[in-house]
Amino acid sequence: MAYKITLIPGDGIGPEISEATKRCVDATGVKIDWEIVHAGVDIMEKEGTPLPQKVIDSVRKNKIALKGPITTPIGKGFRSVNVALRKELDLYACVRPCKSYKGVRSKYENIDLVIVRENTEDLYAGIEFEEGKEETQKLISEIEKASKKSIRKDSGVSIKPISVSGTKRIVKYAFDYAVKNKRKKVTAVTKANIMKYTDGLFLAVAKQVAKDYEGKIEYQEVLVDNMCMQLVQKPELYDVLVLPNLYGDILSDLCAGLVGGLGVAPGANIGEDCALFEPTHGSAPKYKGQNKVNPAAQMLSAVLMLRYLEENAAADKLENAIASVIAEGKDVTYDMKPDRNDPTAVGTSQMADAIIMKM
Ligand code: NAD
Repeated sequence: MAYKITLIPGDGIGPEISEATKRCVDATGVKIDWEIVHAGVDIMEKEGTPLPQKVIDSVRKNKIALKGPITTPIGKGFRSVNVALRKELDLYACVRPCKSYKGVRSKYENIDLVIVRENTEDLYAGIEFEEGKEETQKLISEIEKASKKSIRKDSGVSIKPISVSGTKRIVKYAFDYAVKNKRKKVTAVTKANIMKYTDGLFLAVAKQVAKDYEGKIEYQEVLVDNMCMQLVQKPELYDVLVLPNLYGDILSDLCAGLVGGLGVAPGANIGEDCALFEPTHGSAPKYKGQNKVNPAAQMLSAVLMLRYLEENAAADKLENAIASVIAEGKDVTYDMKPDRNDPTAVGTSQMADAIIMKM
């Protein structure tokens, strides 16, 4: 029986890389009945919202979605569709594998790290108080009373909630992922020495959860500032990293940089009921409709989706075909060529054709 999967092509470069990816996934032989629904700036003009209810309903019903990037216009009054989807569907674990592929230009070789980022709490919870507003002044007074510390009156305030339950499920997810994927070590990354009641809580809960995996998976704790230096100097020492939301976001990009950038950085957002797969990169609007950009990160996100479905043979087939086209360096997009103006660079759909030929 065919899998029913929601496909959200997104906007900007999203539709082209999604179409290329859909063709490659179909070529693996796994039967998928794609339900295509639209979100983003283009649908906003037609339907008055960038995230129509039918998009959420479709993911809830099918429980699995492949999504292209979606633009978040700066200062246009709508919150990020990407953040809204993760919140609405409670996709609490953001998983970003960062792996070296031969042929991708990078200062490092043989990187194989996995970032597991908490996706729903922390400073990204969206609880913010604007400088100068009456409610902000009231809040500042309350905090000053309760903490006996002073806050400058001309401050804006962002709230950083980190809960025991939210931490437990993300750390457990990281350990279960490590077991399932035959990884060796989980490292919890925080700034617990400074933020004792949030990052400190995260660390205390992580330590507790780690006890259940003793003898199976090694556990380690590193402070986030030290971790940045360690990753640049000795990335081979690390395996699976589990982090609160903000550090997870920042270190995801750092690790994407270690493996040669956003062109090969896939991502998965996983919840109890649903999972949504999307590349780390954004909608690169300046390249929209040019059949120019690299579809590999979107395709590698589909590889993660196939693994989630336990279609491991198809996942291997697609991943090997992508890796082989990248390693040959011939039928690749401009960003994978040593000279970005190389006239032999192919377009998005031609790179997909080359990948299909390898399967
Ligand atoms: P971006 O990732 O879209 O683009 C930055 C640059 O990276 C591009 O100009 C391009 O040079 C390069 N690039 C990105 N993807 C590429 C690809 N597949 N192939 C070749 N080159 C590629 O980041 P940005 O410009 O900061 O963001 C653009 C929009 O995307 C913003 O509105 C942002 O909010 C949104 N965004 C969405 C998501 C998501 O949908 N999950 C993630 C990040 C950013």
